[in-house]
Amino acid sequence: MSVNLQTPIDYLKGVGPNRADLLRSELGIHTYQDLINLFPNRYIDRTKYYKINELQRNNAEVQVIGVITGFKEVAQKRGKRLVADFKDDTGMMELVWFRGQKWIRESLKTGQPYVIFGKTNWFSGKYNMAHPEIELKSKHETNLRSAMQAIYPSTEKLSNKGITNRVVTKIMQQLFLETKGRFSETLSETVKGELKLLSKSDALFNVHFPKSPELLARAQFRLKFEELFYIQLQLILKNLIHKSKIKGFTFDKVGDYFNTFFNDHLPFELTNAQKRVLKEIRADLGSNAQMNRLLQGDVGSGKTIVAFMSILMGLDNDFQCCLMAPTEILSVQHYNGLLEWCNKLNISISLLTGSTKTSDRKIIHENLENGNLQILVGTHALLEDKVKFKNLGLAIIDEQHRFGVAQRSKLWHKNTSPPHVLVMTATPIPRTLAMSVYGDLDISIIDELPAGRKPIKTVHRYDNNRLKVFRFMKDEIAKGRQIYVVYPLIQESEKMDYKDLMDGYESISREFPMPEYQISIVHGKMKPADKDYEMQRFANGETNIMVATTVIEVGVNVPNASVMIIESAERFGLSQLHQLRGRVGRGAEQSYCILMTSHKLSQDSKTRLETMVRSSDGFEIAEVDLKLRGPGDIMGTQQSGVLNLRIADIVKDKDILQQARYYAKSILKLDPSLSFPEHQPILNTYRQMSKYRNIWNYIS
Ligand code: ADP
Ligand code: MG
Repeated sequence: MSVNLQTPIDYLKGVGPNRADLLRSELGIHTYQDLINLFPNRYIDRTKYYKINELQRNNAEVQVIGVITGFKEVAQKRGKRLVADFKDDTGMMELVWFRGQKWIRESLKTGQPYVIFGKTNWFSGKYNMAHPEIELKSKHETNLRSAMQAIYPSTEKLSNKGITNRVVTKIMQQLFLETKGRFSETLSETVKGELKLLSKSDALFNVHFPKSPELLARAQFRLKFEELFYIQLQLILKNLIHKSKIKGFTFDKVGDYFNTFFNDHLPFELTNAQKRVLKEIRADLGSNAQMNRLLQGDVGSGKTIVAFMSILMGLDNDFQCCLMAPTEILSVQHYNGLLEWCNKLNISISLLTGSTKTSDRKIIHENLENGNLQILVGTHALLEDKVKFKNLGLAIIDEQHRFGVAQRSKLWHKNTSPPHVLVMTATPIPRTLAMSVYGDLDISIIDELPAGRKPIKTVHRYDNNRLKVFRFMKDEIAKGRQIYVVYPLIQESEKMDYKDLMDGYESISREFPMPEYQISIVHGKMKPADKDYEMQRFANGETNIMVATTVIEVGVNVPNASVMIIESAERFGLSQLHQLRGRVGRGAEQSYCILMTSHKLSQDSKTRLETMVRSSDGFEIAEVDLKLRGPGDIMGTQQSGVLNLRIADIVKDKDILQQARYYAKSILKLDPSLSFPEHQPILNTYRQMSKYRNIWNYIS
């Protein structure tokens, strides 16, 4: 009988009630299992010794051989500290103790070679080491030392209470002793064989006590793989359960609307990516499971026409469809775009937003319920209780990062049975991340821009170059182009932002006087109708410059606008910058994006700006963004901390994640109930995970 890993940590020899309390409160370690899963942050080489003159001011842990030449006691504010002079043949440093001085003074001898280990500090002209690990060189040599010694996560409180890395290491050794280092296997032989994985026991041993760098690497790989594998397994199982429970409407025919549009009205040749994505959507809609698909495509990649053609599949099967967008402006633009196509096909379409008149609303409600209205486009207004469809077959949500998960399901519950859902986003969540957090969504990607687009030239300019920028703007306007000038709008400092915008507007008005130049302005404090009016003037080419806050961020389409100037660019996030830049480069002309900043830039701001100048690949930009902000942040507050990984890193280990997903998928495809004898370890582990949620609480 092996040791039960759910045993409380108090029972481990050398722990005891006090230490157990600290381990619980500081590191969340309740059980043997938790302790074994306390993975080291890093490793240090205990076979390497430094000379004192090799020490560097980087506060790293080092090991030094030397002798103590004398002790002194130094009075300080509270109590005193014990200081020892420590010398080798290259120099001298100090060892410092604030506690346990009597015992230390008595047990350490001068003139004998010692090995010390710890962090060095540089203080008033020399190095010191506080509370070093110290032992006689002769004794040190008889102890087996690993070239890779684990350094565990710790907290200030833990080290103050004497639970040093050495203590944690000892406790860990004790755990391996009591369990004899035997741990149940959690993966199948096939997976282990194909990936040449270490056994669970070997992996755990080598991650804590690496025998060699090679074995450590293999141990880490195995444990990362396992962690990601079980996340994927959970997500896929959840998804399978969801699919088997929820039958969707089957759109089994491709009918007149789709064919007529495709044959007679297609405004351009679809890109291969658009065609592929349409096929994927078509396959979902034609099966009898409810579609839950995320359509990712960079700004300008042409998601709208994919949405429209998906809607046509719904209409061909006598279902109603809706398209929801996050802002009024964007809804109107979608509506106008689709209206043109709908008129050609004799399809009824309406727009519903917060500013739709009550009398118009009534008509829309009626026509929705009696089925006369085929397509409804709008904002959040679509979610109101009064909005009832006769038979909603497909709901498309544009720019979903603006909508929470809750809203998504609200729309979903409007029907007697759930419609198919297509979520479109231009925020290219890295595929790996999307897979791990949106396990319930299938993903389609448009990874190709329509032919003939010229790459946007992006530059970074400091504020004192503004006059040059104005000159450039004039040249572009003279060529007939239009220009966006965008100011940040960040909720907390809305007043200041507003002032920045107004100051900017004034200086631009001075530089570009009427009647030679016409300027539009759009900001959050304006009434929707006024915003629309200004947007419309700009879209019609009646104004040369659009001064705006980030309200234009999403979706607006003015192909003649070829310059995007972003003020205080250092205050924008990367994905926002990328979105904004996507407003230009939509026509045939060369487009430009100018990032204006002050000289004061943080390291992160610099990285963001450099990334923008270097790359126009939304996915690459998203990866950098993810690294800068961490996955929690990129998903918005609502989903922050979604992933709570012990050893894997969602960004760095994306290749492992891909493998993990592949194996989780193929195993479940073969054996959805995990009933093959071979899969017994997986089933057991999966059950354990569900039983001890607190331990495996990856997904909040
Ligand atoms: P987004 O994916 O950002 O929503 P849109 O659907 O608004 O992109 O498309 C951007 C622009 O590209 C629109 O003017 C659209 O008409 C045009 N477009 C879309 N697909 C193609 C294509 N295959 N060939 C040429 N132009 C296209
Ligand atoms: Mg769009």
